[in-house]
Amino acid sequence: MNGNTYDALVIGGGINGLSALYHLKRLGAARAGLVERFEIGHDRGSSHGAARVTRSAYVAPEYVRLMQWVHKEEWPRLEKDLRKKLVYSNPGIYTGPPCERYHSYVHAVAQEGVDVELLTADEARGRFPQFTFEGVESALLDKTGGFISSTEAIESLTALARENGVSFHENIVVHGIDPTGDPVRVETSGGTIETERLVVAAGAWAKELLPFLKPSLNIARQTVGYFTPEDDLDAYRPGRFPVWAYREQDENNLFYGMPEFGRAGVKVGRHLRVGVDDDPDNPPDAIDQEKIADVKRFIARFFTCKNWTLAGAEHCLYTNAPNEDFIIDLHPENPRIAFGAGFSGHGFKFGPLTGRLLAELAWKGETSIPDAKLARGLFSLKK
Ligand SMILES: Cc1cc2nc3c(=O)[nH]c(=O)nc-3n(C[C@H](O)[C@H](O)[C@H](O)COP(=O)(O)OP(=O)(O)OC[C@H]3O[C@@H](n4cnc5c(N)ncnc54)[C@H](O)[C@@H]3O)c2cc1C
Repeated sequence: MNGNTYDALVIGGGINGLSALYHLKRLGAARAGLVERFEIGHDRGSSHGAARVTRSAYVAPEYVRLMQWVHKEEWPRLEKDLRKKLVYSNPGIYTGPPCERYHSYVHAVAQEGVDVELLTADEARGRFPQFTFEGVESALLDKTGGFISSTEAIESLTALARENGVSFHENIVVHGIDPTGDPVRVETSGGTIETERLVVAAGAWAKELLPFLKPSLNIARQTVGYFTPEDDLDAYRPGRFPVWAYREQDENNLFYGMPEFGRAGVKVGRHLRVGVDDDPDNPPDAIDQEKIADVKRFIARFFTCKNWTLAGAEHCLYTNAPNEDFIIDLHPENPRIAFGAGFSGHGFKFGPLTGRLLAELAWKGETSIPDAKLARGLFSLKK
């Protein structure tokens, strides 16, 4: 690998790195490469698994507008170029017991003009009899909701990049970046790579490569279960079953899920965000059964079907930033290096947009997406 020189190099083959690569090719990077410490599609980071929820219902106006843009512009362009359907519309239901956190969420989303409708608990039960809606007074129906076929997004972005002549360096670990070099020098387990422009999208390992990110990021390993109901499985398929979340006042008391899609079982997980900092290099040997039991207790309370079989489970990493705001910026020492980190538990749906932002920042120092320009302050390292 010694002696490789690129117009643009990407570190990290998750949704952000692959999307940045796609946009770097669109911007004209003739010699482009990507370095990935495992194989593309591996299950040690954050982008694996069959599907991800998408929605425009956000509290902060910047995210609402960016999601409206990504739904209207970025995912459709990607689907066209990849010749693949990736995004499926499906109603969303967001609920929780009466508490400040739930009320402020409902209020903020409604104020932003997102296409939502507030249902009473009885109306919600009538519409989605799969849930008991125990302990809640209302539920927000999000008509902008849906899910993304994440495995297919990763696979088809990789296939397109290969077709376009991108060099993939898999099972190669980047150990260091010399930002002062011209071109930039990247030290890897396979030798040195030189590049004119660099995008760093290293997920849970970002703070190892960019130590200035250390104070801003913490890693939380998530455990997700896939469950098969004893009763009518059709009631949990797309169209009839929503993408959903249930939030209480405590930040870690957020459960979520989606219809069965892309693999056996209905996905249910608990969004664990605060009070942990896991080591991405030290994955557990087995699925944490206590976490599965915890999810089962929630299902027993909030789902009408009481008998479920565990069809599968997986771990996945959140790289959390304060307030869950993404950190997307230029390297403080070199404006030809852009980095993205802290995509927390909600970054996949933004992938084609955050990838474009990373590519444009590295390639020309600024973004051409008007709402992303406005969000630069929100995503800034110095915020
Ligand atoms: C359980 C779970 C559920 C989620 N649900 C949703 C959802 O419903 N909707 C949504 O929008 N988002 C969701 N997310 C969040 C979303 O999946 C992540 O924000 C997103 O996948 C982050 O992608 P990434 O490319 O930044 O990181 P990653 O996918 O982790 O990619 C980073 C890559 O960099 C590689 N790498 C790191 N360091 C090096 C190095 N030194 N050398 C070479 N390669 C390196 C890693 O191996 C990895 O492949 C969820 C996340 C989890 C864990």
